[in-house]
Parts: sequence; structure tokens; C-alpha cells
Amino acid sequence: MNFQPLDFKANARKAMADPNLREALSRVQTNFSGRRAEAVARLPEFDQLRHDARAIKDHVLAHLDVYLERFEQKVVEAGGHVHWCRTPREARETILSLCRKVEAKTCTKGKSMIAEEIALNPFLAANGVQPIETDLGEYIIQLADEPPSHIIGPAVHKTKAQISDLFHEHHAKLGRTQRITDEQGLVNEAREILRQKYFDADVGITGANLLVAETGSSVIVTNEGNGDLTQTLPKMHIVIASLEKVVPTLEDACTILRVLARSATGQEFSVYTTFSTGPRRPDDVDGPGEYHVVLLDNGRSAMVGTVLGELLRCIRCGACMNHCPVYQSVGGHAYGWVYPGPIGAALDPHFIGIEAGQHLPQASTFCGRCEEVCPMQIPLPAIMRHWREQSFSARVTPPLQRYAIRLWAMAARRPALYRLGARLAMGALALAGRGRGRFARLPLAGGWTAGRDLPAPAGRTFQDQWRGARE
Ligand code: SF4
Repeated sequence: MNFQPLDFKANARKAMADPNLREALSRVQTNFSGRRAEAVARLPEFDQLRHDARAIKDHVLAHLDVYLERFEQKVVEAGGHVHWCRTPREARETILSLCRKVEAKTCTKGKSMIAEEIALNPFLAANGVQPIETDLGEYIIQLADEPPSHIIGPAVHKTKAQISDLFHEHHAKLGRTQRITDEQGLVNEAREILRQKYFDADVGITGANLLVAETGSSVIVTNEGNGDLTQTLPKMHIVIASLEKVVPTLEDACTILRVLARSATGQEFSVYTTFSTGPRRPDDVDGPGEYHVVLLDNGRSAMVGTVLGELLRCIRCGACMNHCPVYQSVGGHAYGWVYPGPIGAALDPHFIGIEAGQHLPQASTFCGRCEEVCPMQIPLPAIMRHWREQSFSARVTPPLQRYAIRLWAMAARRPALYRLGARLAMGALALAGRGRGRFARLPLAGGWTAGRDLPAPAGRTFQDQWRGARE
């Protein structure tokens, strides 16, 4: 799979110069943000629902051990199995050994960010089990050999023409030589190709939007129905989920589902919301013979009770990235790791370390829109600020930037000095910009002027103007 290197600045520059990406990203605003706004406007109690959903997650995180054990007990009572995995490696190996148990050659897969987090597909393929993505977006990027660029729209970075080319290239080998260019035709072709794969697969792997402790159920939401075919047709259903997905009751699950669909796609509910509880029972007409839940920690239990613990409320709706001016400009691949956008900027450094992820918490204008739209009220800018502080303390921040921050901090603690410095700088800039009105280039502001001109200051600082207006 072609991952971008972990170099946000270089990736972002490349992304901004890509006309296909610009065209594809323009749809984020209409398809996601616009529909969310309409859905929220139609539901006066939306803010109360957000409040309730947050309270549910906060309660779970304070009693995580209790609800996880209850969940396991209920899964076992329903005839299933729970596998506790501390690391991605343990999770991968558990899934492989389950696949080997039924001598699987292929497995169908529903969309799962946790599967991306543990790099499941390349591992299974290297060990003789061919994974087949069944979510349309995931199927497209599997053909392109790319990681997802959005947590709910994995192929949002692709234009229709690019998808048409991909299908033509890959499906021609299967005897479909006619190039399809219309949306419905592309969907139909993917559906026809995938249909037999569901019947041939020995194992179906899905993620889980929620795990319900009360019943031992895993819950998935899709708009294509692919998840249902993935989990009911093969001999074995494996759910891969991180441990914070658990909620106490079915009612709690419904509260969260109501904010999830509205925040993600602006729907009142997703087209398919499926609760799976254990393997097929004797009087069931279909369903898997075996049901396994692989529960991944990967450092999450250590986040509980820390500043990062608030991130565990995330329900992966994608609203923060849909409203982020940085994400909308550079897309998801620029972030270089599994989770893009503001949630990625706040979460990824926990997994990859602040040195490798140093640019991610900087990839924000701090406009605060992500926190405003987050249904779980996660303080994303504050968490990014936490990482900036970590980066500064660990001396990962470049020396010049560190000295500049120190200098600014020193002045900010001495108001008279700060005002004097600001007046001198404003005066000098106003003088230098006189007659021009703008700077096309400015020392120490190259990043800003590379993309736009800097207006020349009027000559008075904000504080002076503020004081003048009050007098
Ligand atoms: S951080 Fe909030 S807005 Fe972003 S994906 Fe998670 S729940 Fe959604």
C-alpha cells in the first residue's frame, strides 16, 4: 500500500498542487458539512443529545473494566468468543490464527479504521489470506493500493474520472472491457463483481461502531448493506474493535447512533444499522457458525484519566475533518498516518510518538470549528496544544522556533516591553510598506507570503487602536 511519508509539510505542498484532489475535496463541503447543518437544524434537541452522548461515554470511560467484562460475559453466553489484544501484533496474529482455523483463502471486509491501525490487510495477504474490501470507498482504494483519506469516505480524494479509470484497468482482467463513466454504472459494476466474493469468502471481518455490554452485541452502520453480507454469509464473523467502543445498554447505543448519523452524513439514521449477537442459533435462517470479537487496546487504557482520555469519546463521525480548513485544503493523505484531520492531529502522536508526528498538531489554524461540531465535545484544539507543549519540552520543535517562542513568552510576561516592541515593529512595517500597501515577501514570514501577500500594517498596534476607540 502506498502510504505518504510522515512529512506533513511536503505532503501538504504536493496536495495543494494536485488539481484532481482540489476537485474531489470540493465535494466535502456539499456532501458532508452542508448535510450535517441541515440535519442539525431539523432537530431542536440536537445539543441535548450531544450532551447525553458525551455523558454516556464519560460514564463508560470511568467504569471501562466493568463494562468490558460485562460485554465479554454476554458474548460468551451468546456462544461467541472475545480475544483481548494489547498490541496491533497480537490482534493481527489472533485474526490470522482464526482465519487458519477455518482454512480461509479469502475474507470479505467491512470498513474498519482499527483494521487500518493494525495494518491488517497486508499482513493477511502476506500470510495467504486474501482480504476483499466490500465498502465501495474501501474497494476503490484497495484497487488503487492506497490508504483511506477520510474516516467515513475513504475514497473522497478520488474524482469520478479517476474511479472510472481504475475500474477499467482492474475489471478488464475480469472480462469487463467497456469503460463505465456514470456513477450508477460504476456502483453496479462494483456490486456485480463483489457479489460472488461474499459467497466464496470463509471469513467476514467487520469493525464495530459500538459494542453493547447489556447484550454482547456489536453494532455497525453502513449505507450499502455490505457489512451485513460480510458478517452473515461466511462461516466465521470476526469483529475487530478498540475497547472504548463499549456502551452500557441498547438505549445508550441508540442515543449515540442518533448523533453519529447526523454528524457524519446528515442522515437521521444510516440506511443499515445492524446489531450482531453471537453466531447463528439453531432456528436462525442465516448467520456465521462462529462469532469472535478481537478487542484492541494499543495504548488506549493508558489514556484513560489523562488529558488524552477525552479522545476516547470519539465515535469516528468525521465531522471535525469535514469542517477543518486545513483538511479541506490538503486532504487526508497529507497527514501520513491512519487518522487524518483534527482527530488525527490530536490522536496520531499518541500512536507514532511526538517526534514522528511533530507536524500534525501544528496542522491547525485553531479556528475551533472542529470542537464546535464534534458531537462528543472533544476539546481537539486543547489536545493539539498539549502536543505542541510536549514537542517544545522534548526539544522536537526546531531551535529557531523555540527561541522565538521563548522571546515572545518573555515579552508577554512584561506588558510594557510587549507594547513597546509591538509599537516599534508596527511602525517599522508601516514605514516599509508605505506606498505599496502589501508585502509580497517578508523576512521570517516566508511561509505566509509564499501563498499570499501580507497587508502592510496601518502603523498603530491593536492595543493602541482599542484604547483610542474607548477614549
Ligand atoms: S473527534 Fe469528534 S468530530 Fe472528530 S471524528 Fe471524533 S467524534 Fe467525530
